[in-house]
Amino acid sequence: MSDLLHVGCPHCKKMNRVPAQRLSDGPKCGACKGALAEGAVAELSDAEMPGYTGKSDLPVLVDFWARGWGPCKAMAPEFQSAAKSWRGQVAFAKVNTEQAQQASARFGIRSIPTLILFRNGKEIARQSGAMQASQLTAWLRTQLG
Ligand code: ZN
Repeated sequence: MSDLLHVGCPHCKKMNRVPAQRLSDGPKCGACKGALAEGAVAELSDAEMPGYTGKSDLPVLVDFWARGWGPCKAMAPEFQSAAKSWRGQVAFAKVNTEQAQQASARFGIRSIPTLILFRNGKEIARQSGAMQASQLTAWLRTQLG
């Protein structure tokens, strides 16, 4: 079976190769033993961002956010809850725009929160403004067809 998917670990950010059919089976990271596909949200730095979004065989949804900003605070639990419902299908990650300034500049983030959906490292969709988990799920469904 050549049906191995590259999946980034949300805890240590290392890439793992997981058989597609095992994704729903609670796979663990080979490096840190953290749960790979149980809906944890990865916190990405400038250095981690290209590999995490570019090498993943799952689409990666990145939330560009900032601390102490009301709409981001409101969105955080919604994002977390959507991450759980999409576990094993879409990897969820966050980029703190105050810390990861290179990534924020590269993607021209002008308002926060901004969500960018990556597939094979390419931006395929973006959306600005806070969303509830149900809106986020509806939006993702439209983008992923
Ligand atoms: Zn790990």
